[in-house]
Amino acid sequence: MRRNQKGFRCSFCGRDKSEALILIAGIEGHICEVCVEQAQEIIEEELFADGDEKQNNSEVILPDKISPADIKRHLDQYIIGQHEAKKFLSVAVYNHYKRLKQPATADEVEIEKSNVLFVGRTGTGKTLLARTIAKFLNVPFSIVDATVFTEAGYVGEDVESILSRLLQVCDYNVEAAQKGIVYVDEIDKVARKTDNPSITRDVSGEGVQQAMLKMLEGTEVNVPPQGGRKHPEQKLVKIDTRNILFICGGAFDGIERKISQRLNTQVIGFNAKEKAKVDRENLLQYVSHQDLKSYGLIPELIGRLPVLTYLEPLDLETMKRILVEPKNSLVKQYTRLFELENIDFSVTDDALEYIAEKALEYKLGARGLRSICETILTDAMFDLPSQKEVSTFVLDLDYVLEKLSGSKIAKLRVA
Ligand code: ADP
Repeated sequence: MRRNQKGFRCSFCGRDKSEALILIAGIEGHICEVCVEQAQEIIEEELFADGDEKQNNSEVILPDKISPADIKRHLDQYIIGQHEAKKFLSVAVYNHYKRLKQPATADEVEIEKSNVLFVGRTGTGKTLLARTIAKFLNVPFSIVDATVFTEAGYVGEDVESILSRLLQVCDYNVEAAQKGIVYVDEIDKVARKTDNPSITRDVSGEGVQQAMLKMLEGTEVNVPPQGGRKHPEQKLVKIDTRNILFICGGAFDGIERKISQRLNTQVIGFNAKEKAKVDRENLLQYVSHQDLKSYGLIPELIGRLPVLTYLEPLDLETMKRILVEPKNSLVKQYTRLFELENIDFSVTDDALEYIAEKALEYKLGARGLRSICETILTDAMFDLPSQKEVSTFVLDLDYVLEKLSGSKIAKLRVA
């Protein structure tokens, strides 16, 4: 960008450089600041059919032309598999933001909030889904861990601080925070430990669930802006959670047993063929609100998380695809890193397969892939930048085996 260049004029309005504050140079022409502003207005009008409404109501953010299928297509670029979860999330998000656009008149049918609950093993993409959708919508997004919260009066953070992080990521802009997305991780950890709630006080369980209720439903919450615990000298910020979308996720270890029990009792009376249809290998796909209740979530909380879906466990093929296919996959990232050193990087199929197998052994989901790749590639990333004569680097199985032998990862494998 150059300012006020001599003899130039705006290629759009013809304004001379002396009349323009800023003249931005393109390949073949120039544009002045006034035309940039006008162009911006045109873009907004095109993208948001009801552009005026958007100006008056900062809560309207979902462009009219976007459909749930568009949202899913966007998610497909970043998340491999998990079609069911993507479909549910796309519809939930679509409805949520449609709901915000609805004028608030008393006689109209009120669309309720569609908070989402993901059930799925660790590292299968729950957080990634929530993060990707927030980025797509360009709304503030924060991740909180349910395990740090306790009932008021006990050591630990107050539940209201779930919203502190959201406030912080949007620089304490309350308006922006009020239409954000919060991902509450490890929601299964606040499940009631016993079936009888009255025997002992369950500090980290039911009390926290109770405290979360109001927030999920939509109410005004007094939030400690710095997080942690509320204390008298801290000024609290009032946040209306009506339009905040909560996405909760948890592994719910052992919930398969509850699902299985329920299915066993349900299929009594059905014929044997019906029973055989149940895929015992992947029981999570049958998860229902009833199973969550048996697991220890209180019915009121379950009721406020109406969109319930599951994530598939990752198999070898999916792991391999995760290494290569997402828009910012690990292989794409390493390719770019080596490209910056003028090195042509590629990976053979058997190397990919071996890395995927190792990650499966870890049982950390796709999260294990990164640390394995780092172990394999650190030497190359250290040495190659100083070896100017090297122009290609093929990561094959021999190289992978060599780098993993002697490393902590290989030892784990032997053990
Ligand atoms: P969790 O289910 O425990 O929330 P995350 O979403 O944090 O798991 O996933 C951990 C990492 O694994 C992500 O950063 C992402 O790189 C990768 N990952 C997990 N599942 C997928 C998937 N289905 N597609 C692409 N990447 C994935």
